[in-house]
Amino acid sequence: MDLKKYITIVPDWPKEGVLFKDITTLMDNGKAFKYATDLIVQYAREKRVDIVVGPEARGFIIGCPVAYALGVGFAPVRKEGKLPRETIKADYGKEYGKDALTIHKDAIKKGQRVLITDDLLATGGTIEATIELVERLGGIVVGIAFLIELTYLDGRRKLEDYDLLSLINF
Ligand code: 5GP
Repeated sequence: MDLKKYITIVPDWPKEGVLFKDITTLMDNGKAFKYATDLIVQYAREKRVDIVVGPEARGFIIGCPVAYALGVGFAPVRKEGKLPRETIKADYGKEYGKDALTIHKDAIKKGQRVLITDDLLATGGTIEATIELVERLGGIVVGIAFLIELTYLDGRRKLEDYDLLSLINF
């Protein structure tokens, strides 16, 4: 299945000059969403994943069905101030500004094999911060799966110590 045709390119959103990749037209197609999810599940099975971790909000959309299919847990990474219990924090720079991500301190147990998921790899800042959080808790990042990779931004270069899967390249 050609997944790329389900992505809608939205010019000048959220600001002028950006060609935003809208994944909602893939998600609202049952066959395409299942096909994409199954590819990530297959990858995760090979990596013997114990838990899936994804940054808000679209990392949840990709990661939760994968965790369900594997029968493992999902731990959310969220913007500062959103998680209700004790967290650790990582600062990061992203494509459209600066931010901080957090995870519950007890979300990952030392030595757990972690799959990180997100919808899209751009500069890699979001995923670098997510990796930092997982590793500070003692998790082992065994794979990182994206629906889309913007290869021209070369975010992959920041992540060369990790195994990456991306289903669609722009
Ligand atoms: P990075 O941190 O790699 O520069 O940016 C990736 C993050 O920004 C992802 O969490 C992703 O959801 C969001 N993002 C940046 N550009 C786009 C885009 O064109 N489409 C979508 N769906 N998300 C984007």
